[in-house]
Amino acid sequence: MPILGKLVIANRGEIALRILRACRELGIKTVAVHSSADRDLKHVRLADESVCIGPPPSAESYLNIPAVVSAAEVTDAVAIHPGYGFLAENADFAERVEQSGFIFVGPRPETIRMMGDKVAAIAEMKRAGVPCVPGSDGPVGDDDNETLRIARDLGYPVIVKAAGGGGGRGMRVVHSEAALLNAISLTRSEAAAAFGDDTLYLEKYLENPRHIEIQVLADGQGNAVHLGERDCSMQRRHQKIIEEAPAPGLHEKTRREIGERCAKACRDIDYRGAGTFEFLYEDGKFYFIEMNTRLQVEHPVTELITGIDLVRAQLEIASGEPLRLRQKDIEFRGHAIECRINAEDPDNFMPSPGTVNLFHPPGGPGIRLDSHLYSGYKVPPNYDSLIGKLIAHGQDRSSAIARMRTALDEIVIDGIKTNIPLHERLCRDSAFLAGGTNIHYLESKLAGS
Ligand code: ADP
Repeated sequence: MPILGKLVIANRGEIALRILRACRELGIKTVAVHSSADRDLKHVRLADESVCIGPPPSAESYLNIPAVVSAAEVTDAVAIHPGYGFLAENADFAERVEQSGFIFVGPRPETIRMMGDKVAAIAEMKRAGVPCVPGSDGPVGDDDNETLRIARDLGYPVIVKAAGGGGGRGMRVVHSEAALLNAISLTRSEAAAAFGDDTLYLEKYLENPRHIEIQVLADGQGNAVHLGERDCSMQRRHQKIIEEAPAPGLHEKTRREIGERCAKACRDIDYRGAGTFEFLYEDGKFYFIEMNTRLQVEHPVTELITGIDLVRAQLEIASGEPLRLRQKDIEFRGHAIECRINAEDPDNFMPSPGTVNLFHPPGGPGIRLDSHLYSGYKVPPNYDSLIGKLIAHGQDRSSAIARMRTALDEIVIDGIKTNIPLHERLCRDSAFLAGGTNIHYLESKLAGS
């Protein structure tokens, strides 16, 4: 008997295919739900059943909660996997899924709601002993003098952030006291319009941090482990471009300490499922910024160095199985790097949808490609430009990079523009080769080139 009889994959693209593959291995039947622009997606063709849930715009299809839940009802499914993006961190969706009698592959709705409110999330993490960025310890109030005092104590620059913010939106860096109150009122009105919540908080702005995050798995039954970290500092406009594990230069003891704190926090809040604690890392210290209550795009690098299938683990946890994995059983082997392949112009980053005339995947030792592409596939203009993830694993960082370079030279995606030339440059860049670049490195390199 499979652990879950039939599962709705409430997503598209590479992640929908990744989930389908895990289901196949476990003998779980799959239902692909898709928009009318996505009939030709690879996983739609491979799924046991498929349901068209609406027109191309995401708001009317992939974000349409009643349509997704009805698809589960008409196909007699048991569970719904939200992937990442779309409805993955929507607490109302998770709640609706559970109220309709289905299993939501993810944390409890209350957990998603709490983590979606960054002020509440930070307070909870502080209680659990997770190190946070020095900040306002709660929302910014109406007393301007008090706000100015808090910022002065933190020391400029500070960053004004919206409690309901996400996707790099709803924040503003302030360099001097003269600019603070105006920045607060601007961010407040933006936050009210964008997130329906004008709650703001302040943090010390860290000037040259790296982005390092910790992967966790917890079963909501008292067991939780961490699977080490990923360094995702190579970013443009807060979008990750390259991710790797382990983080260059991080000591074993530091990894263990921060990882154990995150696992403990999961036990404290009764966390269920896969999750990621995102930190800024500066001068040897970790500062929590937010928790993602879902599978991450970059999960494969962790899978390659630990040998653990995270989607399978999610499905086992969702079926109610206690976590069998123990911290002492988790070993980190070698180094893995992921390049996100986007359908975009490598020079100006404009999206480049269209037909892929020819597609040749790379191969060889230590190479993994998670992609829904095939020759003749038409990349629609309606969605995120991610068309694949190329992941290289080697016994150490330099062999992973050498394998990545070989694979980048080998892959052929003809007919649309992709950011592969950017990855080819980065994999030969001396600062990247040295390792440990901060979150501003890519943008400053691009500005200088
Ligand atoms: P979002 O949910 O919108 O992604 P985050 O809180 O994760 O918001 O922050 C997104 C990015 O903004 C971070 O990866 C980092 O680049 C920058 N950032 C956020 N807080 C700070 C801070 N206190 N100091 C410096 N940079 C920050």
